[in-house]
Amino acid sequence: MRIGKSIYLDHQSTTPVDPQVKLEMEPYLSDIFGNPHSSEHSFGWGASKAIDKARADVADLIGADPDEIIFTSGATEANNLVLFGLLDYFKSFGRRKLLISPIEHKSVINLANEINSRKNFEFNYLDIDDNGQIKEDQLEFILEKRDVSLVSISAVNNEIGTIQNIENISSIVRKYGALLHMDASQAPCAMDLDVNEFNVDLMSLSAHKIYGPKGIGALYVRRDLQQKLKPLIIGGGQENNLRGGTLPTHQCVGFGAAARVLKAHTASGERERLRVLKALFLSELAKSDINFAINGPPESQRHPGNLNVCFHGCVAQDLLMAMQPYVAASSGSACNSGVVEPSYVLRAIGLSEDEARASVRFSVGRYTTEEDIVTAVGHIKSAFSSLYG
Ligand code: PMP
Repeated sequence: MRIGKSIYLDHQSTTPVDPQVKLEMEPYLSDIFGNPHSSEHSFGWGASKAIDKARADVADLIGADPDEIIFTSGATEANNLVLFGLLDYFKSFGRRKLLISPIEHKSVINLANEINSRKNFEFNYLDIDDNGQIKEDQLEFILEKRDVSLVSISAVNNEIGTIQNIENISSIVRKYGALLHMDASQAPCAMDLDVNEFNVDLMSLSAHKIYGPKGIGALYVRRDLQQKLKPLIIGGGQENNLRGGTLPTHQCVGFGAAARVLKAHTASGERERLRVLKALFLSELAKSDINFAINGPPESQRHPGNLNVCFHGCVAQDLLMAMQPYVAASSGSACNSGVVEPSYVLRAIGLSEDEARASVRFSVGRYTTEEDIVTAVGHIKSAFSSLYG
């Protein structure tokens, strides 16, 4: 995917809106503008019907029923709704421990810190191996004490692409009576999802990671758990009283369309195409004298579009800047109070600080071409020689 001179290799950050999705959204920004909650005229009925269809399409992507989908502004809000919305329920059954992995998205890590600072709840971190996989024996050991209410983990990691073994994790979590929340924001492009097969209680989704619009996501909540959940936003009873506010019809329609279009692309081999592009990237890079290593899990356990590369001896942020405006990728570093911290995900899988600082995530997507890859690697080589040559 190229806009002018710029090649976009940052699809795990966000994806462009698929043309079909845009097409389906447009009427809801013009003629069908009614409030979907207006039940007394046809403008409202048209919008409401479109939302029902979108909800069914999103539910279909994860094997859920439409009434188990709560639309939110994105996965960040969905994660907040799980972690704040269930605290009273957890208190009522006296289990005050929650478990997350150290490579969760910032929204979960920061929420955990916030909840930890409010007394009486305790977030603990699970151990992971060098591939980012949860250590199942340690998970079981902690759960045996039967004081954990919720385990929250990402099905697919956003930096190193690790795909967790959800079925194994869920059977351990179930055995000890805890709830399982999956942040599946990155998952639909990487794997097939079925909430019943996986036996998960809650699942967060985000439209802009699947070629849909930004600002819309969803939380799947198992039907019988819904009455335990408290809303974050109190409004006019929308979303079964679990998320107040007028639904943005065009955004919901875009999310539904993106879910449907993704299924069609998956069926026609999109994941395999991404793997082929990544292999080309690596073979092109290997033709240079750049000293690099791949971070994270083997291909069989990895998001098909994800590549995380350590360029030994380089500073990733300098490299990324030197590649502007030609290649868009990201380093996973964060700027805290003016200090650039290397990726906590890479540190958690055992990379040294220097290795983490030298690493770049490239993520290929639906519109990436072989020509983009060859040209992008050419730009990496030029940036390298201008910085270090
Ligand atoms: N969880 C994960 C794993 C993510 O990758 C992201 C987006 N980077 C989020 C949550 C947040 O999603 P949103 O932008 O929809 O709030």
